[in-house]
Amino acid sequence: MNVRREKIQSIKQNQVSLKTNKEFQMFNLEIAKIEGEIENFEARQLAAMDDVIPVKHRVAEADAKLKEEQAVVDGYLSELDARLNVVKSELAQAEVERGEAAKHVTPQFMFYYERLRTKRWPVVVSLQSDCVCNGCHLVQPPSVGQMVARNQGIVPCQMCGRILYKAD
Ligand SMILES: [Zn+2]
Repeated sequence: MNVRREKIQSIKQNQVSLKTNKEFQMFNLEIAKIEGEIENFEARQLAAMDDVIPVKHRVAEADAKLKEEQAVVDGYLSELDARLNVVKSELAQAEVERGEAAKHVTPQFMFYYERLRTKRWPVVVSLQSDCVCNGCHLVQPPSVGQMVARNQGIVPCQMCGRILYKAD
């Protein structure tokens, strides 16, 4: 724009030293043409500015919606954090209880338990009244049922090896 305005300015200055009327007319035409271009350009700029208003409005709407959704997500995240903290404290409690219980278990039983734990979980399952292992659902021979009932040492399931205990 400034370039065009400077051009008009220089043309106008040159008009002072013009010799013929014809040249003067040509310069006037040139000035009118450039002024027309400027007007055209300014009109386009105004139109562009007009377009910006609805776009700004849509951006504001999207911003408001984003904030709304962010608040929902933030609320959900803090709820998850709270639940995670509960689970963490329950885990810590369970680990303390596990450590206490482990003190009363003889090392060879502990070894058997730990080895099985990496393969099958839960390691300790109940034996149903119909002599079915609650881990693998295989029917156990009556002798296994008797040993479990007497609660003598570790009684493993004949199929999965899980430690069986009497349900009641
Ligand atoms: Zn089993």
